[in-house]
Amino acid sequence: MSLWPQYDAWARRFDDALMPTYGTPPVALARGEGCRVWDVDGNAYLDFIAGIAVSSLGHAHPALVDAVSRQVATIAHTSNLFLHQPEILLAEKLLGLLQQEARVFFTNSGTEANEAAFKLVRRHANGTSRNYVVAAENGFHGRTMGALALTGKAAIREPFAPYGVDVRFVPYGDVDALKAAVTDECAGVFLEPTQGEAGVVPPPDGYLTAAREFCDATGAVLVLDEIQSGIGRTGTWFAHQHEGVRPDVLTLAKGLGGGLPIGACIGVGTFGQTFGKGDHGSTFGGNPVACAAALAVLDTIEKDGLLAHVVTVGEQLASGIAAIQHPLLAGVRGQGLWRAVVLTQPKSGEVQKAAQDAGFLVNAVQPDAVRLAPPLIVTAEQVQAFLDRLPGILDAVLVKES
Ligand SMILES: *Cc1c(COP(=O)(O)O)cnc(C)c1O
Repeated sequence: MSLWPQYDAWARRFDDALMPTYGTPPVALARGEGCRVWDVDGNAYLDFIAGIAVSSLGHAHPALVDAVSRQVATIAHTSNLFLHQPEILLAEKLLGLLQQEARVFFTNSGTEANEAAFKLVRRHANGTSRNYVVAAENGFHGRTMGALALTGKAAIREPFAPYGVDVRFVPYGDVDALKAAVTDECAGVFLEPTQGEAGVVPPPDGYLTAAREFCDATGAVLVLDEIQSGIGRTGTWFAHQHEGVRPDVLTLAKGLGGGLPIGACIGVGTFGQTFGKGDHGSTFGGNPVACAAALAVLDTIEKDGLLAHVVTVGEQLASGIAAIQHPLLAGVRGQGLWRAVVLTQPKSGEVQKAAQDAGFLVNAVQPDAVRLAPPLIVTAEQVQAFLDRLPGILDAVLVKES
């Protein structure tokens, strides 16, 4: 008899009904509350991945439940033929947090936010000789054709080529390579402030500042993809605020809606006016329910002082990991509540499984890196609970082997 009879049954039905793009997920989640989730067999876990840095307020947060319930009972959809108050309130709120003169275009996902940014860059380059864009090796920008063309991981990009756009990839963090690539013919530069899917890899200090300089010098548009790093994940509203670097275009999604699908492409300064009437659109983009959710997320982060909290518990998490001596543990990287446990061997899948067995959901983001991105509301006690179990989790992987 299996210990997970419900999981086994649902996993079989999953395989028979869904395309195999994700493989069979290892856990079947039934519900959540705060940072805790339960699977269909009744096992509890502490959620240290938050649906890939999405569930900023954890699960079933009263502010989110209330905002979404009220909005769906008021008006759930208008299309962009009609304006609605939540989209205006949310756009105004984001511009206030950005502290820049700017304009917002709302989407439903991260990849769509980058599609909008890519179109904006091309629109800006119309009638000039700027005929290529620059992006980083190992970067991730999404799965639709434009965003995929910008994605620096050949294994996921190449099977779908050609794209009909000239994208030149540079090694992430290499200032000289970036300088050489950004010429007067370059239309735009797409960068993550820290590479998320590559394994929470920060660039050297000064890299974003250098990117800003090269774009200023040549007139290329600097697009910062903060789909994973934005909305408090690193302890500031946006990761670029750590270096004080102003993007021309900023893309957001994941943590913005706290679990409801919403993204944004923000044009700063004159880039707020690059798209004219009819240049872009989305039937669902900026949907009232998603906007109400995002407003609840931003208000709660502010009201509950979660940015300062992220810095404190993020430090606790990182210094706690750094203090552990273990043959499988190479170190920790990242910022705020966005970290990678770096391994000495490519055994992240085994570590993810051992963590699951110990009651923690984490993500094997790279063969040698385990991503941690708990809800921004994770408590010091919950972080400590993870730190207390981590040596045992790592032991379990080595023991299994011997
Ligand atoms: C997740 C992610 C995307 C894609 O977002 P989707 O909502 O999955 O389309 C793009 N860029 C970065 C940096 C991401 O982390």
